[in-house]
Amino acid sequence: MIQKERIFDLTPDLHAEGNVIYWMSREQRAEDNPGLLCAQQLATVMETNLSVVFTLTGDYPGAVLRHYDFMIRGLHETATSLHALHIPFYLLVGDPPQRIAEFIRDHGTGTVVADFDPLHIKRQWVAAAMQSTRAKFLEVDGHNVVPARFVSEKIEFGAYTLRPKIRRHLDRFLEILPALRPMDSHAALPELFSPGDVLDSLRLDRSVGPVDRISPGSSAATETLEVFIGERLKGYAEQRNDPNLQMTSDLSPYLHFGQISAMRVAVEVLRQHPSDADSEAFLEELIVRKELSDNFCHYHPGYDTTSGFHEWAKKTHEAHRNDEREYVYTREQFEQGATHDPLWNAAQMQIVRHGKMHGYMRMYWAKKILEWTESPEQAMEFAIYLNDTYSLDGRDPSGYTGIAWSIGGVHDRAWKERPVFGKIRYMNYNGAKRKFDVQAYIRSVNKL
Ligand SMILES: Cc1cc2nc3c(=O)[nH]c(=O)nc-3n(C[C@H](O)[C@H](O)[C@H](O)COP(=O)(O)OP(=O)(O)OC[C@H]3O[C@@H](n4cnc5c(N)ncnc54)[C@H](O)[C@@H]3O)c2cc1C
Repeated sequence: MIQKERIFDLTPDLHAEGNVIYWMSREQRAEDNPGLLCAQQLATVMETNLSVVFTLTGDYPGAVLRHYDFMIRGLHETATSLHALHIPFYLLVGDPPQRIAEFIRDHGTGTVVADFDPLHIKRQWVAAAMQSTRAKFLEVDGHNVVPARFVSEKIEFGAYTLRPKIRRHLDRFLEILPALRPMDSHAALPELFSPGDVLDSLRLDRSVGPVDRISPGSSAATETLEVFIGERLKGYAEQRNDPNLQMTSDLSPYLHFGQISAMRVAVEVLRQHPSDADSEAFLEELIVRKELSDNFCHYHPGYDTTSGFHEWAKKTHEAHRNDEREYVYTREQFEQGATHDPLWNAAQMQIVRHGKMHGYMRMYWAKKILEWTESPEQAMEFAIYLNDTYSLDGRDPSGYTGIAWSIGGVHDRAWKERPVFGKIRYMNYNGAKRKFDVQAYIRSVNKL
């Protein structure tokens, strides 16, 4: 059984009857997937059919061909694994709440198991689907090691307030889930989609193409994890902030699309590196920082605007609103990496060409956008646009929260006051130069 704390009943007044759907959305994997396991268990107990449904829209906010390509190829691997277990996988193209409602009606569905997701659009889809059908809806948190709704019922001030709450429950939730069982049904499976045909048929923004250095799918995710544990975890604590050493895991695109489970990653790390400084530093990022982002986006509707900032940050931004900016760039100048700062331009080119920017550079990159735009509102807008468009792991709670941290001091404290930034933590070129070989980083990006 999956832990009951992962399950949240969205329709407590309704009783489950009829077939079961797992509405796959954030957790796009066959293995280690609590929502899918929950749906299978329900279907088994109720002796009904189980279907996995993915609803695909071509106009997901911020998504471009790069993301669709990564996601659809990953989904193809997942669908293939499910079909091998005789679990039907349906890919429905169109407006997600409408398509799922049609499926619910056409397939005698009594229960829908949906993924927990704190972002507005996903919540809107689930709310709209619930309104237009009479099915029972259960939400399962398969993303957080310690489920977000369970670990805290309020917005947390920072890592220091969430960390002890997570630690209290960690042992219980750090477990490998049982494997999916093959289904006995002899009914014909829906035809498996062709990723190329689906991609060709969608009307989507094709301005940013796929990246070839990061392969999609759960197998690639597992391989990435193994390489990280084998070759880079040792040294992570000391060296992860040097972009030239590339000591980080590169797991964020896979975690974002749910092609690998954070629980699996954490268990494997602890199995191979039990409680040393490197695994501790890594789990702080993977669990505490990542889950703090879900907490922020779940409990603050303004996670992607300046309304999400603390009062002290709003005040300091107000006080410095009219400070003279030495440089002000348009969105296009940022996008093309055409600022006066070669380090910033290299960071921007890293997401444009590679689809992923090093974690240390992301902070520098976002803070300079605050420094070189007309207002904090414009800085938020530009940073979110650039991150969501070019980063494979963009459109994610960790992105909105990371940007809000950099520009609005969310989860941070007030620092020494200075022009434009006010009391928001400052970063500059000389600071970066003291930490790592800036020229080597610029050269390495130029080679991409
Ligand atoms: C301005 C800015 C924008 C960001 N945008 C994104 C984004 O769009 N998507 C995204 O997943 N992360 C984002 N982050 C957080 C972090 O930088 C990335 O998760 C990390 O760089 C991903 O690389 P990795 O997998 O190699 O990280 P590792 O260092 O190997 O970390 C392992 C995992 O821990 C999580 N993690 C690490 N650092 C953080 C953090 N600071 N906050 C939350 N989770 C973290 C990620 O899931 C990551 O994959 C952003 C941070 C900032 C400051």
